Amino acid sequence: MNPDVHVSRFGVIDGELRVGGMRLSLLASRMGSTPFFAYDRALLDARIDLLRSVLPTKVQLSYAMKANPMPALVQHLANRVDRIDVASALEMQVALDTVIRPGLVSFAGPGKAPAEIRQAVAAGILIEVESTTEIERVIGAGSELGVTPSVAVRVNPDFSVKGSGMRMGGGPQQFGIDAETVPDVLRTYRGAGLDIQGFHVFAGSQNLNASIIAEAQRKTVNLVATLAEHLEEPIRYLNLGGGFGIPYSQKDEPLDVDAVATNLHDLVHGEIDRLMPTATPVIELGRYLVGECGVYVTRVLDRKISRGRTYLVVDGGMHHQLAASGNFGQAIRRNYPLVVGNRVEASLGERATVVGCLCTPLDLLGDDVELPPAEIDDLIVVFQQGAYGLTASPTAFLGHPAPGEALV
Ligand SMILES: *Cc1c(COP(=O)(O)O)cnc(C)c1O
Repeated sequence: MNPDVHVSRFGVIDGELRVGGMRLSLLASRMGSTPFFAYDRALLDARIDLLRSVLPTKVQLSYAMKANPMPALVQHLANRVDRIDVASALEMQVALDTVIRPGLVSFAGPGKAPAEIRQAVAAGILIEVESTTEIERVIGAGSELGVTPSVAVRVNPDFSVKGSGMRMGGGPQQFGIDAETVPDVLRTYRGAGLDIQGFHVFAGSQNLNASIIAEAQRKTVNLVATLAEHLEEPIRYLNLGGGFGIPYSQKDEPLDVDAVATNLHDLVHGEIDRLMPTATPVIELGRYLVGECGVYVTRVLDRKISRGRTYLVVDGGMHHQLAASGNFGQAIRRNYPLVVGNRVEASLGERATVVGCLCTPLDLLGDDVELPPAEIDDLIVVFQQGAYGLTASPTAFLGHPAPGEALV
């Protein structure tokens, strides 16, 4: 995507990018040092408002916290979403500190430790079981604690979703229980002291193709309708996954969320109302909710010319933003959108390669990008940094200090 699109989403003050209502250089001085991540509340709110305005009212919105577990941001979102999805004991703790009640916190992921399971059962969290071993552990924890655990069965579907950045369903998977074995599993654990509320199908992440997402949701509804017949109680929980992507490179087209929503209206008022009227449909999103609200801000430490090529060396890099660098040398690396944040209205005047401060050629933030001529101390801003940034990067690599982080 053209960086201009992102500049206009954030806005401009005095020729600088506006983040959290401030011009960037003011934000940088308040942060005290660079590099840092900043997440813009107004953009977060706008994204939630957009989704609420197009999604059927019956569909609940869950925030998948692993995209960005910063407690302040999670607190902000907790007032605006219906549910939170967590994937570890620490994330569970952050979710339990919000206004979302425990029964609306779901816990997914393969390899939940027995201690995490006990903690989740004790707190009354909905556990999305991914294997029969986990079911046994949940039952064990329930009888030890004298409570009836709430669970949903995560299903590895009998279809896969093409076009996902990451496929997490279909074929052999570490995620979920294979769809064809679910009826037997449900029969086995009938009367075992579990409150089985429904099912969760998450087929993939970072998908920009609305018709593929729509098809996956349709197949999920049909699959769950057949599985729901094997439940003791009417189905209450129908987690359709999410996987809504955001554009990172110039080649990416934004997701047509209206088209996804139109399909959901059809499903909610069609198959879901007809076959599973007791079910609450849930869409679970991480990246799409928070990814576009965040920036990663670094400062130019050096500007050098090597055999005709201009290099801007910044004080951050792949240790804070692994994905923008190309994930340790991925086959096809594409530039993330970036700008000189204190010169967003200056005309583009040179091509420069923006590199981080790590001693590896992999530490590349922008390869031969067109920018206004930048000087030492200028602020280089990388967009689309609200999800899978800081906590998804190798911060210990080379031992530089951790970056700042703020919700503004
Ligand atoms: C990672 C994950 C998500 C969030 O995926 P995004 O692509 O960030 O929306 C949602 N649900 C489950 C089960 C996940 O593992």
